[in-house]
Amino acid sequence: MANNFLRKETYTPEEIFKNLPNPADYPKNFNLKKVKVDYDGDLMKMGSQRYYVFRKSLKCSHCERVGIYFAKETHLNKQGEPANPSFHFNLYAVDPDGTEVLMTKDHVLARSKGGANSLKNYVTMCEPCNSYKRSMDEEKAKELAEERQRAGILLKLGKVHG
Ligand SMILES: [Zn+2]
Repeated sequence: MANNFLRKETYTPEEIFKNLPNPADYPKNFNLKKVKVDYDGDLMKMGSQRYYVFRKSLKCSHCERVGIYFAKETHLNKQGEPANPSFHFNLYAVDPDGTEVLMTKDHVLARSKGGANSLKNYVTMCEPCNSYKRSMDEEKAKELAEERQRAGILLKLGKVHG
């Protein structure tokens, strides 16, 4: 467990997915995040988009990691106290060496490229793959900026024709 979380119980994916609200059961424009279910004394918001993404697939879209349980957790502030009194569920995979790996959701088409914050545009991705992808994206952006700068310099030097 990441030490910036306070953890209570853990649950199987089925125990979470069976309580996800079905949008068809509610009026149009109803905020599904209002739907709460009691899990061992904590009223849990069940409409979080992450849970629907994980229901589509528990497996990372980039590697072999598969989320196997949800942990009821809350963030801790710098003083080590719960930053927010409400808990949420985090999905975890466990590596062969026993290391827990947080599962996250990732845009298929990036927001910066016009990708929507919709369920269709999300896939499950483990945190290491997600941060690797982020660093690659930053690397690519940096390379592109450098390339443009080089091209600009060449242009100024009159070495590029046409
Ligand atoms: Zn992964």
